[in-house]
Amino acid sequence: MMSQPISTPPRGMPAEQTDFPRLRVGVSSCLLGNKVRFDGGHKRDSFLTDTLGRYVEWVAVCPEVEIGLGTPRETLRLQRQGSHIRLLMPQSGADYTAAMRAYAQRRVIELDAENLDGYILKKDSPTCGMERVRVYEPNGIPHRDGVGMFAQVLMRHCPHLPIEEEGRLHDPRLRENFISRMFAYRRWREMAARGITRANLIRFHEQYKFLLMAHNQEGTRRLGRLLGNAKQFPSDQSLADAYLAEFTAVMRRVPTVRSHTNVLQHLVGYISNQLDNDERAELAETIHQYRRGLLPLIVPLMLLRHYVRKFKTPYLLGQVYLNPHPYELALLNQL
Ligand code: SF4
Repeated sequence: MMSQPISTPPRGMPAEQTDFPRLRVGVSSCLLGNKVRFDGGHKRDSFLTDTLGRYVEWVAVCPEVEIGLGTPRETLRLQRQGSHIRLLMPQSGADYTAAMRAYAQRRVIELDAENLDGYILKKDSPTCGMERVRVYEPNGIPHRDGVGMFAQVLMRHCPHLPIEEEGRLHDPRLRENFISRMFAYRRWREMAARGITRANLIRFHEQYKFLLMAHNQEGTRRLGRLLGNAKQFPSDQSLADAYLAEFTAVMRRVPTVRSHTNVLQHLVGYISNQLDNDERAELAETIHQYRRGLLPLIVPLMLLRHYVRKFKTPYLLGQVYLNPHPYELALLNQL
């Protein structure tokens, strides 16, 4: 399903660079303000509802309610029993392990068919938590080494789907990385829907090349080699599977100021000959100030975008790096 573009191009930018699809994102229902928690309350996250929500069609899921538990209800927790971890209500001793596992196996298959671009989970929950969830030992002492029972099945079933916890999204770098990955995954699926061919894979890689370099240079080279050795794969689909696994791993690496600086300088190399001395000095200065932490990434990026548009530099016009997500989200505006 291709949805309507939602972003308005800045003046002078070609529309094809700034049209962003509305993302379809699974979310722990309580994060949207739905009163589904054990205590009858919610955990509304204003960044999700008020900011990201403008670019997202939510698919809200509360696994505990969907297995038939009421609201309010007794609390659940993860409990270690020998080599197993159970999902229990400690007060009554009711055991929901089998019910939650059976539900999760079925529900993640349904969600997979919903063409999700990402998933945001509620941290610390014995059901939805992605990591560091409390697991209670038989002596009653908890260790933070568990994974929510629904989240575990979801992550195993959808290894390439960008998944994050709402708590981690308060970190600007993790937030930017996650949203960038969701748009990348969406573009991947749109490319796959047009047909997995070697030519489409190469085009996709070319458009992502500089963004990938910002995430991980060595991984980007591995991806290039994969495509260069395409003939060794028995089919285009097997090549695409190998590419997507590596692409996902590279995109998970969070870019650094240093890696962005390298990419910016690399991009300048494509247009340097067309700049006059003042323009070249100004661009170099903004990159330098970004590297020193005095300017946000958006400043040299906007300047580069301006020159790429002005000179119509063909290879750079289609680079996702210059326009990875709706600029209204201001994800690159942080120092
Ligand atoms: S954390 Fe998950 S299971 Fe708990 S209330 Fe929120 S959506 Fe429901």
